[in-house]
Amino acid sequence: MFIKKSKTKFDKQHIWHPYTSIINPLTCYSVKKANGVILKLTNGIKLIDGMSSWWSCIHGYNNKILNKAIKKQLKKMSHVMFGGIYHNEAIKLCKNLINITPNNLECVFLTDSGSVTIEVALKMALQYWQAHGEYRKNILTLRHGYHGDTFGAMSVCDPDNSMHNIYKKYLSLNIFADSPKCKFNDIWNENDINSFKYLLNKHYKTIACVILEPIVQGAGGMKIYNPMYLKRVSELCKQYKILLIIDEIATGFGRTGKMFAFEHAGITPDILCLGKSLTGGYMTLSATITSKKIANIISNSKAGCFMHGPTFMGNPLSCSVANANIKILNKNKWFNKVKKIEKHFKKKFLPLLNSNKVLDVRILGAIGIIETINYIDINKIQKFFINNGVWIRPYGKLIYLMPPYIIKKKELNILTNSILSLF
Ligand SMILES: *Cc1c(COP(=O)(O)O)cnc(C)c1O
Repeated sequence: MFIKKSKTKFDKQHIWHPYTSIINPLTCYSVKKANGVILKLTNGIKLIDGMSSWWSCIHGYNNKILNKAIKKQLKKMSHVMFGGIYHNEAIKLCKNLINITPNNLECVFLTDSGSVTIEVALKMALQYWQAHGEYRKNILTLRHGYHGDTFGAMSVCDPDNSMHNIYKKYLSLNIFADSPKCKFNDIWNENDINSFKYLLNKHYKTIACVILEPIVQGAGGMKIYNPMYLKRVSELCKQYKILLIIDEIATGFGRTGKMFAFEHAGITPDILCLGKSLTGGYMTLSATITSKKIANIISNSKAGCFMHGPTFMGNPLSCSVANANIKILNKNKWFNKVKKIEKHFKKKFLPLLNSNKVLDVRILGAIGIIETINYIDINKIQKFFINNGVWIRPYGKLIYLMPPYIIKKKELNILTNSILSLF
């Protein structure tokens, strides 16, 4: 039935892409190969990648070290169940994660995607309170947040502004504080925390946990906020004895100029969620890391265990490439690379603040964001970028870059110049 259809037509008529319609899909481009920071399309066009495949591919595509790790593991075993079984790569990864995160974080739960690590973290918080004999179901979070597409995760995404508002009636009702207004480099304004403080004080008896993205609110608006906000959140959580879940899925592994974005605020989370670049963008893998104390309390709850266990938990191929990713990062070359990207973004993008088409420019580490005054025509701008030899995928009023750390000056110039030529 499908034989006569071209691949483009088949894709258009039968395959869902992220957040698109089957009736009226946005244009999709066929990628044949990817190497370094270059995506090579089937039609021969080469594009410089400004997206790192959504925050993940930090060391570039077809990376020799990552390839080698996964090939080596493939010969031994690609998967084995994690129930009642352990293996070298999982041991190594969990040791690595415990090593690179704050001292209190000692127990690792491996899952298969970012959204699932959020579900796991929320479930941990609920079971934690069950163990205390308390039924706490509310979650306090921020407006403009994004935590994933599954039900628990959706329930803590921005309630009005997100793509999930259509499911609102099906989601558990959580509590949303105003998102921070004080920017990263602004002088801290203590009033910024008022909404959060008020809601915590009002509802703390029913709140199981606080969940938020540290410093950078990603898909919910690409906002970068003041580290003091996060510091105050952490202090208030301690004061009210509420668990603090930090979602580092987008920001972790160096993207903001620190290994983890919460380090900007000098805090430590109770539960940490990692994903996206955990495997250097190679495989789907995520981790939820918590303290021994919290893990013990959960294990003492009525169920006598933590109630979660996905089929592909601790997948050896994913763990092997995650270990190789961390090995590359531990050489500490990422730091200067990210700093260079940040410097370049500042030089190129900050002058756009004078443009009457630009509302704001936000830069931190290897993240460069331009917020425009008017909505962007995605199909049109995507074609423009492809004609300029770059892969950039704006949404709403946001044009942003988060290139692989390995990008060279020349390639970075092409990326940023193609954006500048729009204004
Ligand atoms: C992408 C993302 C998620 C969801 O991860 P998936 O792997 O897409 O399920 C959750 N939180 C943040 C901050 C993210 O950027």
